[in-house]
Amino acid sequence: MNLILLGPPGAGKGTQAKKLVDSYGIPQISTGDMLREAVKNQTQLGMEAKKYMDSGQLVPDEVVIGLVRERLTKPDTEKGFMLDGFPRTVPQAEELDKVLAGLKKDLNHVISIEVANEELMGRLTGRRTCKACGSGYHVIFDPPKTEGKCDKCGGELYQRDDDNEATVSNRLKVYDSQTKPLIDYYQGKSLLRPIDGVGAIDDIFGRIKTVLS
Ligand code: AMP
Repeated sequence: MNLILLGPPGAGKGTQAKKLVDSYGIPQISTGDMLREAVKNQTQLGMEAKKYMDSGQLVPDEVVIGLVRERLTKPDTEKGFMLDGFPRTVPQAEELDKVLAGLKKDLNHVISIEVANEELMGRLTGRRTCKACGSGYHVIFDPPKTEGKCDKCGGELYQRDDDNEATVSNRLKVYDSQTKPLIDYYQGKSLLRPIDGVGAIDDIFGRIKTVLS
């Protein structure tokens, strides 16, 4: 099963992706995670990408396309994959079509998680992640038992550099202008599966499973 998870920042793509990995055993390919890893390792690509990420802009298409093209040739994608946060522009989607055609693969579903803009700011600025195990929390909607500490492993919780109010506001604008056109792009290919992204995490996952079955 070859999937794309589409939706604005804060829609819950990463959370649902992790549940899909557990249920379907297909790898999550998150360009945001790949870029953050490159930033952490201070690679040339990471240092270049950081400028865009910190201001809420998109990293240039050719950089992310290169990352995804290489990742999709790895053997673990043979039984399927889930793209999370890619594509984010129409040129990225067109390039993905070419890469997949070259690999003789098709997309099966584009899961579009829908959440109103007004709700996203609060979701994103309250988001916290464990440095050690990557578990996600929210200071209001899903707080840890002890402030700043992970319930699962005791690791330190941190806020992503780009989850501050100014950068979030930019990311939401960039989503509307550059990523939203993908909804029409995939609708035109009859691949779009809209999912209501408001409610309990497991309920949203249930909606996704219904669409996939
Ligand atoms: P995310 O974790 O998906 O919210 O991505 C965090 C940041 O990484 C974005 O705000 C962009 O700066 C960059 N990024 C992630 N995926 C892409 C992509 N497909 N195209 C361009 N930039 C991306």
